[in-house]
Amino acid sequence: MSKRVLVTGAGGFIGSHLVKFLKDGGYWVRGVDVVQSSFMRSAADEFELLDLRRWENCVAACDGIDEVYSLAANMGGIGFIETVHGEVMHDNVLINTHMLEAARLAGVQRYFYASSACIYPRYRQETAEVPALAEGEAYPADPDNEYGWEKLYTERLCAAYHRDYGLETRIGRFHNIYGPYGTYEGGREKAPAAMCRKVAEAIDGGEIEIWGDGEQTRSFCYIDDCLEGVFRLMRSDWREPLNIGSEESVTINELANLAMSLGNKRLRKNYLLDKPQGVRGRNSDNELMRKVLGWEPQVSLAEGMGKTYPWVASQVNAGRVRRKIAAEPSTAARTATAE
Ligand code: NAD
Repeated sequence: MSKRVLVTGAGGFIGSHLVKFLKDGGYWVRGVDVVQSSFMRSAADEFELLDLRRWENCVAACDGIDEVYSLAANMGGIGFIETVHGEVMHDNVLINTHMLEAARLAGVQRYFYASSACIYPRYRQETAEVPALAEGEAYPADPDNEYGWEKLYTERLCAAYHRDYGLETRIGRFHNIYGPYGTYEGGREKAPAAMCRKVAEAIDGGEIEIWGDGEQTRSFCYIDDCLEGVFRLMRSDWREPLNIGSEESVTINELANLAMSLGNKRLRKNYLLDKPQGVRGRNSDNELMRKVLGWEPQVSLAEGMGKTYPWVASQVNAGRVRRKIAAEPSTAARTATAE
């Protein structure tokens, strides 16, 4: 019989891709979220709309499950996590505390937790040219935002559940995952999707907004690499946190230039210095990943953005068409006006 797995956050960007990945791998999958994906029909065998801040819903979600991939979180891009603090900590601490306990009581064998590069201390990320972040550099702790503090707390909770109850926990520290079928508007989008949208919306020769001076650095990991990394980590015997990210560091200006070349547009950059920018520089050190998983991400930023830009642009264009149709008076309304 195939393993029965639960993916929480299955209506979200990474979760909806992960459900499909696991289904393609022969697993029986239950997806749980408070929403369905707006972009992708879920491939799950069962999809349940459950609010995982509530204990009884976590118990229902874990019922009959062998392995959990815990991705549900109240989160968003830098504009969101740097402005919403209490709600993020409140929701995520409830989701993760209840989910771990419900998984333990249900006799779950393995539990993957989606942590974040946001757990790394601010003092290691103060210049654009920072050394890449290795897993051992998380302490002394000083995450840049409350979202990161909660992630660090749940990393520790996972370790405690292994120590006290023997639950096999796996922790991936995601570094800026991107790709098609992710949020690209509304305030929760991340830099790659936001950049694609801004370029797709702009008129050639016009301008795009860049938050900060654009010289802050990041690395971005394509969704397919993220899924492969998560899966390999889950199958490994490694219980310590592991980076799941790319080592290809770029400035936000370079990311913008890439999006412009994919959109075939020349745009002026309008720098908004008062917008949230997060840490000055961040990159993933993948030495441990190579050792533990015998693998590292394979998709370059140019290749991954080459798949992401056309999808975001198609969504932007579809939105334009929808708005145009909505703005045009219907035939009935036109007839009524004429009469
Ligand atoms: P996402 O926002 O697209 O997905 C998260 C999902 O969790 C959403 O669909 C949301 O509806 C769901 N959720 C929120 N509150 C819930 C609740 N109370 N009950 C049930 N479901 C709830 O984000 P994503 O990019 O797919 O991220 C998935 C996980 O990876 C998250 O835990 C996130 O913190 C982590 N992560 C992502 C990135 C990234 O770059 N995308 C980076 C670091 C960490």
